[in-house]
Amino acid sequence: MGKEKTMGQAEPLWNTWEAPAPNEIPENLEEFLCHLSGPTVISLPGADPSTTRVAVTLLHGNEPSGAKAIHRLLREGFQPATNTLLVLACIATALTEPLFSHRLLPGCRDMNRCFKPPFDDYQGQLAKSLIDTLAGLQPEAIVDLHNTSGDGPAFAVTSQFGVEHMSLANLFTSRLVYTDLSLGSLMEITEPGCPVVTIECGGARQAESDDVAYQGLQEYLLRPHLFKNAAAVQLDLYRHPMRLELKEGFQIDCSSQPTDADVTLQRGVQNLNFGEVETGQQLAWLGEQGMAALQVKDGEGGNRLDEFFEQREGMLCTRQPLKLFMVTENPHIAATDCLFYLVGVE
Ligand SMILES: [Zn+2]
Repeated sequence: MGKEKTMGQAEPLWNTWEAPAPNEIPENLEEFLCHLSGPTVISLPGADPSTTRVAVTLLHGNEPSGAKAIHRLLREGFQPATNTLLVLACIATALTEPLFSHRLLPGCRDMNRCFKPPFDDYQGQLAKSLIDTLAGLQPEAIVDLHNTSGDGPAFAVTSQFGVEHMSLANLFTSRLVYTDLSLGSLMEITEPGCPVVTIECGGARQAESDDVAYQGLQEYLLRPHLFKNAAAVQLDLYRHPMRLELKEGFQIDCSSQPTDADVTLQRGVQNLNFGEVETGQQLAWLGEQGMAALQVKDGEGGNRLDEFFEQREGMLCTRQPLKLFMVTENPHIAATDCLFYLVGVE
């Protein structure tokens, strides 16, 4: 098979596979992942061996666009511009039936929250081992490919901001979210001189998301000079977004008319995704508790809801022009994650 278990000590955490030939890559994606059998680092020699570019994916098992792109590129026998590391993390999670349905497995931590101490469980050790490998390698750049839970267009996320981050993001999308929230995600690792960006390729079930991942990854890995035109890159920027959240104990629904829920998102609100909304934009019907069902938490635990939103005639409306993204019409996502992210208009 050409696969070797070399990284780590007694029990290797990561499988490694050096320079697989296209005919060694199973034709079917699921068979390819079965063949990898666990967390895997695939390395490929590049035309320029003096530097390495890294692409990571499947930190979440239900986000397949990155794995599809890597599988396709390997099948095509692409010749990378530099040495390349392709990291496929939560293979077992992705393969748990039904395929690509589990973000993480029951009882396990979210892999993309494990890139900061403590590293004492299995996910933490996987993360630490990858951090150590990357530190030793000093790569030119790292991109981490994801999908969003709801449908929507692609965007990039970075926790550091510079022209190189913009340039990397721009290989995949024209939208860049800059956040300094510390969650323990891969993009927060700071290797001097190595920009890291997360790419949210779009919804997991959208065909466009697979195209974003494939086209972007191809550009990223084939381009001889990664940051040649970095200074000229123009992006739609979302600085320090905040989240509009449903408070615990409240109900949310989505409909074209008010319901019994405390918050009823207006059907069609998803169309506001990545657009600019004016003051007074109606977003949801509010129940008897009004805006008490909602919060916009700041870093110090305060609630900034009233700064951005107000109640007008029983409806939640914007109080100032805003840019919204990851707007969902899925009540489950709205309740367990957030209704959407927001930034003020600069
Ligand atoms: Zn993800």
